Amino acid sequence: MPSSGDAAGRRPHVVLIPSAGMGHLVPFGRLAVALCSGHGCDVSLVTVLPTVSTAESNHLEALFDAFPAVRRIDFELAPFDASEFPGADPFFLRFEAMRRSAPLLGPLLTGAGASALATDIALTSVVIPVAKEQGLPCHILFTASAAMLCLCAYFPTYLDANAGGGVGDVDIPGVYRIPKASIPQALHDPNHLFTRQFVANGRSLTNAAGILVNTFEALEPEAVTALQQGKVASGFPSVFAVGPLLPASSQTKDPQAHYMEWLEAQPARSVVYVSFGSRKAVSGEQLRELAAGLEASGHRFLWVVKSTVVDRDDAAELGELLGEGFLDRVQKRGLVTKAWVEQEEVLKHESVALFVSHCGWNSVTEAATSGVPVLALPRFGDQRVNSGVVSRAGLGVWVDSWSWEGEAGVISAEEISEKVKSAMGDEALRRKAASLGEAAAKAVAGGGSSHRCLAEFARLC
Ligand code: UDP
Ligand code: UDP
Repeated sequence: MPSSGDAAGRRPHVVLIPSAGMGHLVPFGRLAVALCSGHGCDVSLVTVLPTVSTAESNHLEALFDAFPAVRRIDFELAPFDASEFPGADPFFLRFEAMRRSAPLLGPLLTGAGASALATDIALTSVVIPVAKEQGLPCHILFTASAAMLCLCAYFPTYLDANAGGGVGDVDIPGVYRIPKASIPQALHDPNHLFTRQFVANGRSLTNAAGILVNTFEALEPEAVTALQQGKVASGFPSVFAVGPLLPASSQTKDPQAHYMEWLEAQPARSVVYVSFGSRKAVSGEQLRELAAGLEASGHRFLWVVKSTVVDRDDAAELGELLGEGFLDRVQKRGLVTKAWVEQEEVLKHESVALFVSHCGWNSVTEAATSGVPVLALPRFGDQRVNSGVVSRAGLGVWVDSWSWEGEAGVISAEEISEKVKSAMGDEALRRKAASLGEAAAKAVAGGGSSHRCLAEFARLC
């Protein structure tokens, strides 16, 4: 018998099962800490080693060091032959390897004495049946936007009605229309590995016990309301908007990091922070336009450059990537690094005035938390959907005609420079972003909507 937290008078024990990539691991770690330090739960985190990237292994190590209360369950995957999917993204391959190994979770869960599970959307359709066998409620932590959760929930219905036609605009009931151009690239190909997983997971969402989503009402009012009122898909489980999930304070560190020292030396609200997340490389051509655009903007900037999909493969020199003489020319007002930075710390720093971001969802929630306006430069996957959220909410600006991965053309230096200059001078944008920061703080404080949702979730575990 599983040990039900309430019935047995014991603390609930939630087993968290994330998938791969920092975008998924970071919010799972935050949820683990929030549940065990603020909501009276025991928490175990299922870990697959080796991780795909170095960033993930560093992150896990720091998490378990800082929070020994979070237990670790090692999950050894069954052998997986990646040659079946030539050229596939390494993170999607890891999703698939984990999906195929899901039945091996059964014995681990029996041994752990869990009272509830929370897994990642990428594993949903394969973990729910395992949870059912174990008699455990299986919740989902959706690590992307509520808008993206709507798309995931509604997309199978859309495809069924579409009877094999190409994917166009997707008008989500009760929410809004997501234009064709914003649909993640892979979803236009029904045979893509990601599409197959996405559709299987979307169909199985109605079998989840509940869905946590890392957003808050003021950021995504339409999507959160429609999901909670069951307008997007019939028979949908309870949806808990619990964001923005916050980093645990003892995990943020190193005020002496060179970029923090550099930020300290800059005037208040003078710096453009530029980062495209942990997951994808920006093309060489686009990197050079960005470099020239930042230079032409005349503003100070801190730029984290990533030129490979997996960080372990990154051997290129910055000088080569960004073009002849760039680093010398900007050295008085720009800091460019290939190293990992503690983004939360950067965004909180008073010198930072604008975030040029790919709009990975964690980056968006972190910008909202810090009240820093965003200039959206989506590249791939859910990032255009998220950029739409950013501009709707007034957190930032997005030029939706700018190209992304798979489309012809690059965004020119001139366009980038113009937009950076106008966003840096936009007082109304700054005020709106700051007010979203206040709304985020209210949502997660005691009595706030996200805090109440997380407490309610913990009671169900
Ligand atoms: N996602 C989903 N269903 C799945 C797998 C992923 O809804 O079966 C979501 C995931 O949360 C992400 C989005 O789809 O927000 C696009 O995923 P992407 O390829 O960008 O991967 P990520 O950067 O999240 O690893
Ligand atoms: N991140 C960071 N330092 C870096 C790059 C990324 O701390 O140098 C963090 C960032 O704060 C966020 C996560 O890694 O929490 C990336 O997730 P996101 O959803 O923004 O984008 P993804 O990497 O999945 O595209």
